[in-house]
Amino acid sequence: MNRELLRQYLAYYRDLGIGTIYRRNGPPTLVSQHVRENAPEPSKAESELPSLVPAGDSMLKILEDIGDCRRCRLHQGRTKIVFGVGNERSPLVFVGEGPGADEDEQGIPFVGRAGQLLTQMIENTAKKEGIPLRREDVYICNVVKCRPPGNRTPEPDEMEICGQFLFRQLLTIRPKAICALGGTAAKALLGTKEGVMRLRGNWHQWRDIPVMVTYHPSYLLRQYNQAAKREAWEDLKKVLHYVYD
Ligand code: URA
Repeated sequence: MNRELLRQYLAYYRDLGIGTIYRRNGPPTLVSQHVRENAPEPSKAESELPSLVPAGDSMLKILEDIGDCRRCRLHQGRTKIVFGVGNERSPLVFVGEGPGADEDEQGIPFVGRAGQLLTQMIENTAKKEGIPLRREDVYICNVVKCRPPGNRTPEPDEMEICGQFLFRQLLTIRPKAICALGGTAAKALLGTKEGVMRLRGNWHQWRDIPVMVTYHPSYLLRQYNQAAKREAWEDLKKVLHYVYD
């Protein structure tokens, strides 16, 4: 691959929000430092760069590419890869942080306590607003697909490696809106360190898709967060009306 073609690849991935490219096989060795105007000289690893996605991409292809993923350390503690669930043609996608214990066991996102709250939030808010919507009508996934040990926050390199699959999922679905649940999802999609309290309630963008940031359901489960619960309901109402009116 010549230098110009490599530059095009890197620019394309930078546009997708992917700043670092890793080798496909073996340990996650950095091939290029963060994408710069002057792409580094192509190395021997260049032939292992992923092809120009997402033309012709599909959920099946993404799942196949994830395979028995060992690209980052999170694979060491996982039981199941938690890819995503729901309607792959949904106009609305919810993005969480990463699987917890229940999700890791079942291979399905948001099935534990936080997941039950998310389901209630979606279905009860929709019902109250006169929108016929069930959990299975939307698509739900996470920034990282393997459970971080002890439910810790995913590390930046883990988010970046797994983020490429999240971005491909979003580009394949092309929803009308995305709801980012909590700070990790907001950071992955918006590239900001700004906290949820400042970001929530307003529209942002990932590529050309509107993004609403709201509190993560796990945060809402804490007793003292009743005010946040009300705010999350408001955020969700905004999203539902935008997508389904
Ligand atoms: N928390 C998340 O962020 N995702 C899940 O799938 C479950 C809990």
